[in-house]
Amino acid sequence: MIDLLKTLTSLHGPSGYEQEVSYFLRDYLKDKADQVEIDPIGNVIAKKKGAKAGPAILLTAHMDEVGFIVKKIEANGFLRFEKLGGNDDRNLVAQTVKLLGEKGHINGMIGTLSAHFAKFDDAQKVRKHSQLYIDVGASSHEEVIDMGIEVGTPITWGTDLQTLGTADEPKVRAKSLDDRAGCAVILQVLEEVGNDFAGELICLFTVQEEVGLRGAKTASEHIEADAAIAIDTTAVSDTLEQTMDQTLHLGKGTGIKVMDASLIVPKTMKQQLITLAKHYQIPYQLEVFTGIGTDGGAVTYANKGIPTGVLSIPSRYTHSAIELVDVGDLLATKELVKAFVKSVTPDSRFPF
Ligand SMILES: [Zn+2]
Repeated sequence: MIDLLKTLTSLHGPSGYEQEVSYFLRDYLKDKADQVEIDPIGNVIAKKKGAKAGPAILLTAHMDEVGFIVKKIEANGFLRFEKLGGNDDRNLVAQTVKLLGEKGHINGMIGTLSAHFAKFDDAQKVRKHSQLYIDVGASSHEEVIDMGIEVGTPITWGTDLQTLGTADEPKVRAKSLDDRAGCAVILQVLEEVGNDFAGELICLFTVQEEVGLRGAKTASEHIEADAAIAIDTTAVSDTLEQTMDQTLHLGKGTGIKVMDASLIVPKTMKQQLITLAKHYQIPYQLEVFTGIGTDGGAVTYANKGIPTGVLSIPSRYTHSAIELVDVGDLLATKELVKAFVKSVTPDSRFPF
């Protein structure tokens, strides 16, 4: 699964520019699902029927990642940029980025004040993204244009996946684990269940979650599903930062969401996930966190209403170039999604 995650996080898909991920998933799923399509706004929808008849279950994760977009090219070749999604200004300086230019990917970095100049500046100052700039090694506006960069060129973090920690409890660090980790879980579940389930699995990989659950809103309006499981990462609160409340921890199991800013999870869905986790001894923690929203919020209130459970893959340093996920948590999430799919019978109902 780490290999799959490495491939998925090496793709670049800032909100609105998910093409690399969309086309990869379409090709990857071609032989693994009964049908797969990319809808007009880029969502990938794959459907697979089980061996027995039964309800339609929607599994969803988002393809996009937080990123940036070129706003202005300065005369001296530096680039001003706007944010795509919730990036914190404090995490931006001195980071590597990748520009998705018309002539290919281009390496860049967000410039910072040299340490040797720091004593002349206010140490408390946080520079806003609008004051920062990207350096691509060009020395003029013309050089930037020649490189295939223009206003509107999308940008992602420039970091690659690394494994950390002990062999017993490995962790992975990468950009875009939010939510390629969720995408990986769905792909793995699809692989492992074969057709040994009842009903139909509808796998939805959405665009533009990070800018307002936009892809999920459109797709779930026309997808006819009886229930859904959304899989996303969530921010843990287990580090030494002062504001951390130690309610969610890396390495303590998948997060069964109770509520966040986008939804209150229907009781029956939440309870079913808890029951399955206990039965199969899958480590889990309950998540109440209003600092985050997810596609589950768009899905559950869409159409006629689709009862939606949400599993959160615990992550440290979310929405940064160095998101960190525990492989055990990832596998626990995958096992619980699989257990849910396998628990569905031809007669399953998901009442209020
Ligand atoms: Zn996410």
